[in-house]
Amino acid sequence: MGTSPSADRFAIPDDHLRFMALQASLLAADALTEPAMRSDSRANALTRAYGLVMALRGPAHSLGFAEFRTLVRGPVAGLLPPGCPPEGLEAIYAINPKTGERNVELEALEGEFGEVARECGVLPYWPWLRQELTEHKAYALFRKGGNQAAYILRRSFVIRNAAGTQAMLQMMPKELNDLYGRVPEDRVYDRRCFLCPLCRWPMQVLPNGPIVTVSCANRDHRDRGARYLFDDDGLDRAPRLVRTRDVRDRLLAPAASDAIVHEAARVLMVDPACWRSHVIPGLLETALHDELSSRGVQVELWPEMDRYDLRVIVAGRQPRVWKIDVKDVLSVDALINRLDRKNADGTGLHLVVPDRLSSDVPLLRRRLSSTGWKVRTASQLAREVCRAQGVPWR
Ligand SMILES: [Zn+2]
Repeated sequence: MGTSPSADRFAIPDDHLRFMALQASLLAADALTEPAMRSDSRANALTRAYGLVMALRGPAHSLGFAEFRTLVRGPVAGLLPPGCPPEGLEAIYAINPKTGERNVELEALEGEFGEVARECGVLPYWPWLRQELTEHKAYALFRKGGNQAAYILRRSFVIRNAAGTQAMLQMMPKELNDLYGRVPEDRVYDRRCFLCPLCRWPMQVLPNGPIVTVSCANRDHRDRGARYLFDDDGLDRAPRLVRTRDVRDRLLAPAASDAIVHEAARVLMVDPACWRSHVIPGLLETALHDELSSRGVQVELWPEMDRYDLRVIVAGRQPRVWKIDVKDVLSVDALINRLDRKNADGTGLHLVVPDRLSSDVPLLRRRLSSTGWKVRTASQLAREVCRAQGVPWR
């Protein structure tokens, strides 16, 4: 765990500096891009962001307010004091320099870098409490009663139903009631909301004149086609959403089909923290479970109340078992740092990442070589299991 020379006198570890830079970027980006924000709230958010940046840089590298406003539009790493390794923040922009739009992944990245910072256990920091409260609320509801079958049922339900109409949610285990709420106004257009076909959560709505853009807040889902346009013709009928591009369908990463349109008043959804910390990472876990089970492979989700994510068993004369942790992350740097800070022992475990991170697998193998993890992409793992089971993967 490093500490930058500039921050020595405050002894703020580098992991915290990167997390604080992301927090400041998040605050500032909202203030600079949210048209509906009141001017006093805007000034307040910018001042708080500036205060955070001054604190993380320390007096040796203080900035003027104008300089801070310029830096906020550059890569997040620009806010760090000299000597603090950026660990991926050099490529992350809070505000897209081409379109001027706010990066919708900032919360997720802030969460991933926050988990790394939390591992050094130095400063208790209130945003973590807030984040942990929401995460733990869901976990506590999944675990209630300590029954493994009920745990799987509840957790799978939330992953497969991030939102739905009240009629659809009637099947919901009643313990989960508290996780669902109304769709907020900024995800509603003309009484309607639009669910991403991949995660089934209401997509973001961005009107620009009569042309309305609707897209999932998850980058991977957008890359797989969950971005649509429609022309508001002023008539009172359900709009026809057109996908902005066609994407190849892949086995564990299907292309987005049509958006699901509902009357917003009839829809309930989980909150953003639950969507980010349970639904998004859970989608690849359940996809692997479903695809392998459908080929006759024995798969258990979250065995022993979530000791790890999946246990895969291929029976036979020499039975084989795979114990799998699935890590669907945005930042591979943050993942490596988190496992490193945690001193996570991966002996006997497979660490599985989505196929889109295949080019990062050599880096993960190298950096985690002493921890015992066996690193695979989801498709590599599935192919390996199917070969052992004697069934085709494709
Ligand atoms: Zn989605």
